[in-house]
Amino acid sequence: MQIFKVGGAVRDRLLGKPVTDIDWVVVGATTEEMLAQGYRPVGADFPVFLHPKSGEEYALARTERKSGRGYGGFTFHASPEVTLEEDLIRRDLTINAMAEDDQQNLTDPYHGQRDLEARILRHVSPAFAEDPLRVLRVARFAARYAGLGFTVAPETLELMRQLSESGELEALTVERSWKEISRALLEDRPQVFIEVLRDCGALKVLMPEVDALFGVPQPEAHHPEIDTGLHTLSVLEQSALHKQPLTVRWACLLHDLGKGLTPEEEWPRHIAHEHTGLKLIKAVNERFKAPKDCQELALLVGKYHTHGHRALELKASTLLELLQSFDVYRRPQRFEEFIAACEMDARGRKGLEQRSYPQADYLRGAAKVAREVAVQPLLEKGFKGPELGEALKRERLKALKAYKENA
Ligand code: ATP
Ligand code: MG
Repeated sequence: MQIFKVGGAVRDRLLGKPVTDIDWVVVGATTEEMLAQGYRPVGADFPVFLHPKSGEEYALARTERKSGRGYGGFTFHASPEVTLEEDLIRRDLTINAMAEDDQQNLTDPYHGQRDLEARILRHVSPAFAEDPLRVLRVARFAARYAGLGFTVAPETLELMRQLSESGELEALTVERSWKEISRALLEDRPQVFIEVLRDCGALKVLMPEVDALFGVPQPEAHHPEIDTGLHTLSVLEQSALHKQPLTVRWACLLHDLGKGLTPEEEWPRHIAHEHTGLKLIKAVNERFKAPKDCQELALLVGKYHTHGHRALELKASTLLELLQSFDVYRRPQRFEEFIAACEMDARGRKGLEQRSYPQADYLRGAAKVAREVAVQPLLEKGFKGPELGEALKRERLKALKAYKENA
């Protein structure tokens, strides 16, 4: 049997990038031989094994053919006769379809190295169209490597467009989609992920609520970029530049969905978009079964981001309501993430990327003041149950009034 490094490890070594996980392909072996050597099988579906010591993935060389809709509809064929070239041709991109032996001799039948040098993301063969997940994968790689100058080949984008129009994207499982989306949002340029999906028509299928923001104007005074879609991309860009976690990036993507519902006659104003957007945010959250913390933050940011921007003008009572809604007493981190998302929203505007955001410290200070109101003295005064809650609120309000006056 022969063993080769494949996929990301080869690509990233040639790019001079750190290699984190290594995928291996094994040519000329049977399952029985792998088991006899101590490899542990992974699941029943694919001929994939884990190395007994390193735990890295070793897959038997295989060919694949589509036999139905979605990913379940794949039949594969693994046998000692399947060649390395046959295994590589089923892969998504040419830069992902190179293999290397232990002497670093490259096997590159589909010219991945050429495309790597030319900074092109190009599909390997027409079989690309057999797995719609590849649309998301290519957009994710575009987000990751845009900084190096990579772009999607026009013919690959065309295939992605056909896939998006064919209805195949709808056959993707939620788990596979979310894995790609969440990884893409955590890349250096997550906005490129959304742009590429939009360019090939996949955004309209996957997140029509986000797609609808393009072409919707906002008031130029607050939004020199005018277009709500472009604003959303900039907010996402800022969230990556500021190394925000996934929760914040997800909230950034969805914060303005309500603006897509504003009747044209009201443009460029978007009165109450925070509220109209909530059902759309909920729909996108649920469509992708986003993790609970992502869902929660997206809804809170959607509902309250304007409050964040107006923090310094808010009445003490409104400030208190805001803090209560976030349960800043038990969930201080979530409030920090809200503040971060608001700040990204404020900076994600053309020419205003470097602006200061005094609202952030003001909100932090308010949370601290409210949190510092002690319960003990109220207990000592005999308050309990709902009355205790009310008394606590009164004390917090008093503290916030003082905070506001001294700010
Ligand atoms: P990463 O750095 O994100 O791990 P990777 O290229 O190693 O990138 P993996 O998901 O680990 O990506 O997959 C390993 C290899 O398997 C890819 O390089 C590609 O050749 C192939 N591959 C994975 N998923 C698909 C797919 N859906 N369609 C075609 N080929 C795929
Ligand atoms: Mg990998």
